[in-house]
Amino acid sequence: MPTPSYYRASAPADAPRPAVSGALDAEVCVIGAGFAGLATALGLLERGVESVVILEAEQVGHGASGRNGGFVFGGYSLGCAALLEQLGRERARHLYGLTLGAVDKIRSRIRDYGIACDAVDAGVILANWFDDDKALHETREFMLREFDADWRFLPREELREQLKTERYFGGLLEGNAFHFHPLKYAQGLARVIETKGGRIFEQTRVTGLDADGPVKRVHCAAGTVTAKEVVVCCGGYIERLYPALSRAVLPIATYVMATEPLGERLDQAMSTRAAVYDTRFAFDYYRPLADTRLLWGGRIDVFKRQPDEIAKLLYGDLLKVYPQLRGVKVDYAWDGLMSYARHQMPQLGRLPNGVWHAQGFGGHGVGPTTLAGEVVAAAIAQGESLPAGFERYGLPTTFGPLGLVGAQLTYWYYEMKDWWRQ
Ligand SMILES: Cc1cc2nc3c(=O)[nH]c(=O)nc-3n(C[C@H](O)[C@H](O)[C@H](O)COP(=O)(O)OP(=O)(O)OC[C@H]3O[C@@H](n4cnc5c(N)ncnc54)[C@H](O)[C@@H]3O)c2cc1C
Repeated sequence: MPTPSYYRASAPADAPRPAVSGALDAEVCVIGAGFAGLATALGLLERGVESVVILEAEQVGHGASGRNGGFVFGGYSLGCAALLEQLGRERARHLYGLTLGAVDKIRSRIRDYGIACDAVDAGVILANWFDDDKALHETREFMLREFDADWRFLPREELREQLKTERYFGGLLEGNAFHFHPLKYAQGLARVIETKGGRIFEQTRVTGLDADGPVKRVHCAAGTVTAKEVVVCCGGYIERLYPALSRAVLPIATYVMATEPLGERLDQAMSTRAAVYDTRFAFDYYRPLADTRLLWGGRIDVFKRQPDEIAKLLYGDLLKVYPQLRGVKVDYAWDGLMSYARHQMPQLGRLPNGVWHAQGFGGHGVGPTTLAGEVVAAAIAQGESLPAGFERYGLPTTFGPLGLVGAQLTYWYYEMKDWWRQ
C-alpha cells in the first residue's frame, strides 16, 4: 500500500512550531502558510515591515504548495489565448511577464537564501499527445509573437530520444522553466521568514475574523491576533472561513504518485531531466527525481480517494505512456486541493472592509503565488497599486456543491473530447 507523501517523507522534519495561545499583536497577519502566504510574508519583511505573523492550520506547506508537481514555469491556470482575448495585448503581456519574473524570483531566492530544494534547471516539455504538428507550430508561433516566449520546437525523432515512447508527436521546450521539491522550498521560505523576524504559528486554525474596524481581530481556538492588515491565503483549504472568499473558489483535487527508485530503468523511459506535461485538457505531468524515482501526476477530481486507489489510477496512466515500466512499484501516492475561481485567474485584492486576499491559483500556481506575494506586499508596505488587469477577475460565486458537479462534468466532457481527437 503506497503511503502519502513522497515530499513529506523526503524533506527534513522541521521542529514543530508553536500554536497561538492568548493575545498577540502584529502589523500584518497572514492566514495560510502555502506559497501565497509565505511569499506575502517574505515580501513584507523584505520591504521593511517588522511585525508579520503567519497562522497555519496544520504545518508549513500542508496544502497544495507542499504537494504539487514541482513545475516552476510561466503562465496562469487560464490559458494564454484566453488571457489575450480577455485583457488585450498590452495587459495580457504584462501579466504573463509577471509570471516569468516570478520564476526568476524563485530562482534568485533559492540562490540568495541558500534554500536546498533539489532544483533541476532542465526546462519543461509540452509533449504533443495528438498527431498534429500544425497545432504545435501554431502554439509556438503564438507564444513567440504575442508573449515573446521562445519555446523550442522538438521534432518527433528528437523528442523520442528524450522520452522513449511512441505516445507523443513532438513537443515544445520551455527552456527558462525548472522543477523542484516544493515542500523543501516552502520550508526554506519559512526559515528565511523567521530569520528576518517573522513569526509562524502552526496547528492554528483561524476560526473567524472581526474585520470591520480599523484594527482586525483574527480568532483561533486558543487565542486572538490583532493586526492592522490581514491577508487571507488559504487556497483550496479555506472551507467556510470567510463567506465572500470561500464561495469564490472551488476545491478541486488532483493526484500525484512517486515510484520506487528505478535505477537504470529510468533511462529506459526518459533520458532528459526536464519535467513533462502533455497537450490534453486532462494532461499527465511528471518528472524524474534525483534518486531515480519518477514523480507522476494527473487527473482532476471532486471526489476524495485513498492512496491505493490514486496509485492504481496513475499507474495505469503511466503504462499508457511507458509500457516498458510495467511492474514498477508505487511507493507514494497522495492528493492535493487546488483552489479554482470560475474565471481560472488568481483573485488578488482587497475587500471593502480592508481584508486582503490572494487565492484561486488553480493548478498553475507556483509562479503566480510568488508574484501575488510580491504585489500584495508592495501594496501593503509601499501603497502601490495592484497590476492592472487583475481587478477584472473578481470574486464571482462558484455555487458550492453545484459548482463541483459542474466542474466534474466539464472535466469529463473535455476528457471525452481529448479521447475523440486522439
Ligand atoms: C497535486 C497538485 C499538483 C500541482 N502541480 C503544480 C505544478 O507542478 N506547478 C504549478 O505551478 N502549480 C501546481 N499546482 C498548483 C499550486 O500548487 C497551487 O496553485 C499553489 O500551491 C497554491 O498555493 P496557496 O498558498 O494559494 O495554497 P495552499 O498551498 O493550499 O496553502 C493554503 C494554506 O492555508 C492553510 N489554511 C486553510 N484554511 C486555514 C485556516 N482557517 N486557518 C489557518 N490556515 C488555513 C492550509 O492548511 C494551507 O497550508 C498543483 C496543485 C496540486 C494540488
